[in-house]
Amino acid sequence: MHNGSCLCGAISFRLRSEPKAVTNCHCRMCQKQHGAAFATYASIPRADLEYLSGQELLTAYNSSGSIVRKFCSICGSNIEWSGSNEFADWVSIPLASLDTAFVPMNIEDIHLESGAPWLHANR
Ligand SMILES: [Zn+2]
Ligand SMILES: [Zn+2]
Repeated sequence: MHNGSCLCGAISFRLRSEPKAVTNCHCRMCQKQHGAAFATYASIPRADLEYLSGQELLTAYNSSGSIVRKFCSICGSNIEWSGSNEFADWVSIPLASLDTAFVPMNIEDIHLESGAPWLHANR
């Protein structure tokens, strides 16, 4: 059981099952939407995503094809990625929105062809 929320706290939710298929997505859309080098998403059956507060504050944006991204209309935090024809009953949640510790067994990097050129700059 995991809990998550947006930055302003208006939206909170619970995951009724363990997130699966964790990816670091380096596509341009995730980079733009998250303002980051990549977005880390995990997937659960939609029926296992339960909103505790603020569901009516979600704004939906159709980013490409059937894909729908939902974010908090107050603070802009990204909450849902869904609409894949292949996984119509599943929804992906940004791991960074979780407030409970979750360490996946493994993470797959995808869309590295558009990886941010500054990601591996010297620290
Ligand atoms: Zn918010
Ligand atoms: Zn992406």
